[in-house]
Amino acid sequence: MKKDLMEILACPICKNPDLELFIFDENEFEIESGIIFCTKCNRYYPIKSTIPIMLPDDLRKEKEDLEFMSQYKSIIPEKILEKGKPFPLK
Ligand SMILES: [Zn+2]
Repeated sequence: MKKDLMEILACPICKNPDLELFIFDENEFEIESGIIFCTKCNRYYPIKSTIPIMLPDDLRKEKEDLEFMSQYKSIIPEKILEKGKPFPLK
């Protein structure tokens, strides 16, 4: 995704538009992988292969989310690892 997409994104659950972006990999055009974090409801949304995956809780797959978290564990902020919804890693 392009960084300027952040300007129009909002959390799909609580509609909060103030989202934090953590970039793990990027190229000169867009973000390859990262996490979008909602500071209001504490949900995280993975960015995988340039696609932000902003699904409601009931459509998310816990195993896939935890695998993603494990993959980037060393660079994901503690607040997301420990308290990120819907599936914290710890
Ligand atoms: Zn939210």
